[in-house]
Amino acid sequence: MDLRVIGCHGGETPKHRTSAFVVDERIAIDAGSLTSGMELEAQCALDAVLVSHAHLDHVRDLATIADNRLQNDAEPLVVAGTKATLGVLRKHFFNDLLWPDFSKLPGTRKPAIRYLELGLEKPVRIAGYEVLAIPVHHTIDTCGFTVRGPDGVLGYSGDTGPTDRLWEVLRETQGLKALLMEVSFPNAEARLARVSGHHTPETLGRDMKKLGPALAKELPALLYHIKPSFQRTVERECARLKGVNLTVCALGDQFIL
Ligand SMILES: [Zn+2]
Ligand SMILES: [Zn+2]
Repeated sequence: MDLRVIGCHGGETPKHRTSAFVVDERIAIDAGSLTSGMELEAQCALDAVLVSHAHLDHVRDLATIADNRLQNDAEPLVVAGTKATLGVLRKHFFNDLLWPDFSKLPGTRKPAIRYLELGLEKPVRIAGYEVLAIPVHHTIDTCGFTVRGPDGVLGYSGDTGPTDRLWEVLRETQGLKALLMEVSFPNAEARLARVSGHHTPETLGRDMKKLGPALAKELPALLYHIKPSFQRTVERECARLKGVNLTVCALGDQFIL
């Protein structure tokens, strides 16, 4: 499994891009920077985007990728998410006001996007992968994912603070290779992290214990969603955590899992 980091931050500057990852050049997880961080050809090669939740930093580039793919006559891009997430996209995003409804653009040969509703913990086959949506704890309906390909399984936390079900599912997942895991604020901003449904290094260290000591120590946790203003502090605090196998993602990283 080839994992590319297109965007891995909880904010944007010329050196930071919001969340977007691509597996095997076919399936994207979140769309925070799919067009700002990818060439046109790669944008058009995608089959599907898994959307963890409807917050703007995870969906924004759906707007521009839909437009780009339409101009290039690409097949409809599957936009997969829970009913709640797709509901927000339909009502508030692709609503013919903020942006055209690219799921049914009149006068075009085919739509640029096609919605696919994911039931929680109901495995679905998408672009040759088995995708499972798992509920996590954020400020709006949000899910993490497991993505199972021929070589193994990638986990994705989505935006979340302390949560339970994700860890239970990961513990039972055979062939788990790595987990893309959110951490956003430094320990000193614990209150802000709590009210916004995110992790600090401290809450992350505690939550990862739910994996059990052996798996927590061994599973590569690839950290993303650090707020640009706190990048160095969060990295320093994560480096002090014991009993975990953490790597902070950087733009352009490629992991072969
Ligand atoms: Zn969010
Ligand atoms: Zn976010």
